[in-house]
Amino acid sequence: MDLDSKLSEVGRNLRSSLIRELLKFASVPGSISFGGGVPDPDTFPRRELAQIAQEVTEKEYKYTLQYNSTEGDDELATQIIKLLDRMYGIKDVKRDNIIFTTGSQQALDLVARILLDKDSICFVEFPVYLGAASAFRMTMTQFESIPLEDDGIDVDYFEKKLEELDNAGKRKNFRLLYTVPNFHNPAGVTMSLEKRKRLIEICDKYDIIILEDDPYGMLRFEGESLPSLYSLAGPERVILLNTFSKILTPGMRIGVIIGRADIVRKVNMAKQGADLCSPGLNQRIVARYLERYDVFEHLKPAIELYRGKKNTMIKALEENFSDIKGAHWVNPEGGLFIWLTLPDGFDTMEMFELAKAKQIYYIPGEAFTIDDGKSSSMRLSFCLPSEEKIIEGIKKLKEITVEYGKTKGLI
Ligand SMILES: *Cc1c(COP(=O)(O)O)cnc(C)c1O
Repeated sequence: MDLDSKLSEVGRNLRSSLIRELLKFASVPGSISFGGGVPDPDTFPRRELAQIAQEVTEKEYKYTLQYNSTEGDDELATQIIKLLDRMYGIKDVKRDNIIFTTGSQQALDLVARILLDKDSICFVEFPVYLGAASAFRMTMTQFESIPLEDDGIDVDYFEKKLEELDNAGKRKNFRLLYTVPNFHNPAGVTMSLEKRKRLIEICDKYDIIILEDDPYGMLRFEGESLPSLYSLAGPERVILLNTFSKILTPGMRIGVIIGRADIVRKVNMAKQGADLCSPGLNQRIVARYLERYDVFEHLKPAIELYRGKKNTMIKALEENFSDIKGAHWVNPEGGLFIWLTLPDGFDTMEMFELAKAKQIYYIPGEAFTIDDGKSSSMRLSFCLPSEEKIIEGIKKLKEITVEYGKTKGLI
């Protein structure tokens, strides 16, 4: 059979993710990997979850082992309503503003399905969270990338771009702007309050839905937390995505969409076609966990751990990369990532071969572009390696950078 002649347009366009390809190398013994963007498994509350799992499987089996509703567990919804108040001060969320999804990844997929067509224009940040780009691509939408600055999305560029597209008669194709406002993946940056307000004004003016993805908001190490776009503009302008992946465990695959009831209803219909419902067992385990334990308290040691590693990486970068003219990084106030940009002319994908030979792994910036464009940046995750390995790894990364830069006549 000639598969190519059978594939759909979407099927033909599917490519394997660069990250997944690169991460294959990262588990080689002796290597130091800044690649993986996953939480430290020792932060998962495994004993508590195991005990609750046994209990709700035995005692609540009529719910937990059965099909459940597409919108998900009402008991978890009750807990989420409380959590939204504590996290963001959001108070007026009702049951019909909430739907649980199989991770935020499914939320990205379903929201894209109900909002994006082939001729739609979807605004994303540059660099972009890869999971979102993969989900949105399934709709064959057109992308417009808006650069990120150290304090979040470049609102001036965004406004100019919108004017330009509007003048070309494309306003009717504007659909959504996707943003990760806190501790961006991969860029590590946080959108300032001023920019949050301006972004809302701009999206109001052009009637663009803001899709706010906030998996890291609760992983703040330092500084003041800022109001979410959803708390500033409400469900008329913003759809808020959250997930238990980074604050509890990704293995449960529980994400949540908070939005206008009619949007949530549409997502519900799309989800029926995707997977009928998310696992009731997992949702009930998390609901009972949130009833019994304080997730903020649970996160404290994890935050301490990540803050220590982040500070170690920042210090190592300062010690090693300060003398490379044009190298740039932002000290993140939370999350899991630092985005290191090398001087113009560096190609971190090409340099990856050198790094691989020295068993140092990072994710080349190219992985976070819409068009696989060359990039002088890389994503460094500090969450998994020990502090000693971070120091050793950044030192080696500097050697690799110098070696590559000299061969290319860049430094
Ligand atoms: C990790 C992450 C998610 C979470 O995805 P899940 O499917 O909930 O595990 C969503 N968005 C961003 C930006 C992330 O980094």
